[in-house]
Parts: sequence; structure tokens; C-alpha cells
Amino acid sequence: MTAYDTDNIFAKILRGEIPSTRVYEDEHAIAFMDVMPQAPGHVLVIPRQGSRNILDADPVVLQNAIVVVQKIAVAVKEAFDADGVYVAQFNEPASGQTVFHLHFHVIPRHEGVPLKPHSGTMENFDVLKANAEKIKAAL
Ligand code: 5GP
Repeated sequence: MTAYDTDNIFAKILRGEIPSTRVYEDEHAIAFMDVMPQAPGHVLVIPRQGSRNILDADPVVLQNAIVVVQKIAVAVKEAFDADGVYVAQFNEPASGQTVFHLHFHVIPRHEGVPLKPHSGTMENFDVLKANAEKIKAAL
């Protein structure tokens, strides 16, 4: 498997080298708004420790990350009055992975409302910020 690249875009977000709209952080992981949301409230959870994806991740890092995923899932469900929450995670390009730092997509879902395409349209910054505030209020 290709080695983890410390210059991937999420590693840069972790180091604060490029901006992100954060909703949560602790010693294990951070959560921020996806810039091309598949639905309003689409959040990405990434462990602080770098791995390419689930295949090369430390099991302890995975354990800690999934607790944050749960926390965010509960918050987005409440913040967007959702009927359900979609959690997705891709490993290697063949599966749809485009950014090679382990991440979990957490997306509120409403009955009968389809998801927008994966990596579709860039959302307006003010909309992302407003959605982040809703999630933070629910945390
Ligand atoms: P993947 O296909 O690797 O599972 O998903 C990568 C996700 O990262 C996509 O949903 C895409 O919209 C999102 N993304 C790509 N670049 C950036 C960025 O610079 N900032 C943020 N917040 N999200 C990004």
C-alpha cells in the first residue's frame, strides 16, 4: 500500500495550514464541515494521528475515532432534525477515496431526500459556518 503522505489536505487542515470550519475537537480527533456537502450538515471526522485509511490505521486510533463519530452523529441528527444519519468511510481510490487521511463522513438524512453526488459542488462559506453553529449548539 502507498505510504501516508503528510502533505495531504486533511493533514494541512489538522496543522492549521489551511482553513476549515471546525465543529468539534479533542485529543483524538477533529470534526469539520465538508466543503462539498452531500447534504446540509455533512461533517468529516478525522483522527489526529495520520494514516491513509482504515487499512493502515492503529486499532486504538480507530476506537477513539468512532466515539467521536458517534458524538457527531447524535449532534447532526438533532441539529438538522434528521430521520437518520449516514456514516461512510472509503479505502483507496477503487472504493471512492479521494483524500488520503483516514476520515469518516457523517451526514444527516431525511426520508425521501436523496444525497447530492460525492465531491459535487462547493458550498458557500457562510452556509457552512451557519450549519457548523447548529451542530456546535447540539453538542
Ligand atoms: P473521500 O472521497 O476521500 O471519502 O472524501 C473526501 C471528502 O473531502 C469529500 O467529501 C470532499 O468534499 C472533502 N474535501 C475535499 N477537500 C476538502 C477541503 O479542502 N476541505 C474540506 N473541509 N473538505 C474537503
